Amino acid sequence: MSITPQPGIMDIALYVGGQSKLEGHASPLKLSSNENPYGPSPQALSALQRSAATLHRYPSTDHAELRAAIARVHDLDADRIICGVGSDEVLQFIAQCYAGPGDEVIHTEHGFAMYPILARAAGATPIEVAERERRVDVDAILAACTEATRIIYLTNPGNPTGTMIPLSEIARLADAIPDQVILVLDGAYVEFAEGYDGGASLVEARGNVVMTRTFSKIHGLGGLRIGWGYAPREIVDVLNRVRQPFNLSNTQLAVAEAAIRDTGFTEHCRAENARLRVWMRERLLALGIACDESHANYVLARFADEAEAAACDAALREEGILVRRVGGYGFPEGLRITVGDEPGCKRVIDAIARFRGAA
Ligand SMILES: *Cc1c(COP(=O)(O)O)cnc(C)c1O
Repeated sequence: MSITPQPGIMDIALYVGGQSKLEGHASPLKLSSNENPYGPSPQALSALQRSAATLHRYPSTDHAELRAAIARVHDLDADRIICGVGSDEVLQFIAQCYAGPGDEVIHTEHGFAMYPILARAAGATPIEVAERERRVDVDAILAACTEATRIIYLTNPGNPTGTMIPLSEIARLADAIPDQVILVLDGAYVEFAEGYDGGASLVEARGNVVMTRTFSKIHGLGGLRIGWGYAPREIVDVLNRVRQPFNLSNTQLAVAEAAIRDTGFTEHCRAENARLRVWMRERLLALGIACDESHANYVLARFADEAEAAACDAALREEGILVRRVGGYGFPEGLRITVGDEPGCKRVIDAIARFRGAA
């Protein structure tokens, strides 16, 4: 066969998403993909309906209005923002523009499964760095940097761990990495963390840090596919060269703009999540199940071993509840459980208590 794909492509293992269907249950309780249990903001839904009138028009190519809205809400510089088809697309632009054959892309032990996929798609070599007690280890990352390193992808707060490292540790990393390396801070869960700007201040103070954010999690718009990045202007200029001019539709732009402007709804979701994730962790600990403090919209329940996690997962499915097995992220003994609304949280915890024979 003389038709062959580029080097690295056939090494890519297909991404496996959270399950959404369960046989015998018409509407299962889905706590497997870190979605917002309250759905999108009502303002976003109104914008969705209004956008129907513009379907025959090509969308904006520069996303100026959405970037201005993001900049206003987060107090950022609109010229340093780039919008993409989910933050996944922004993460992809970075790999495409800055890594290639012979280059190394660092990600951490329990990091997002997309990072090695994006590295290989660019022809580069993914390098996995160990974490320490389920936390990103800055010294281990520094020790793994070589002359071939081009990108470091970090999720903070981490998924599926829910743990986070402080801004001071990230600043220490950004200061110490080699000159040719970009530090990418994947901030999919930043809104759920307290007192953390996702690294926006580091982006502004340095030339080597990029932050990505998404509308898929706190804004409840995972089905819309929209995210954004914040980067030094020179890097935004590079990324925009590979971005398709019409990568985002009128509908995506209008709905996302309405969602980010509805700060009251965002705050409601943030506060409910903060309250319920503490409650879930306390209940898990009381049931004898290990669980770190979470800074995101899920908790990682760690059972005695893989067999117990599998048995609990099966028991939850029997009751029409979907959570996420995370063996692929280095936790065969773990179940990642999205923080639902209050009835959803109670239902999953009650089911786990029954499984443990404690109810
Ligand atoms: C959910 C998630 C994202 C968001 O991806 P989108 O493409 O914006 O939907 C990014 N990174 C991590 C670690 C995530 O868990």
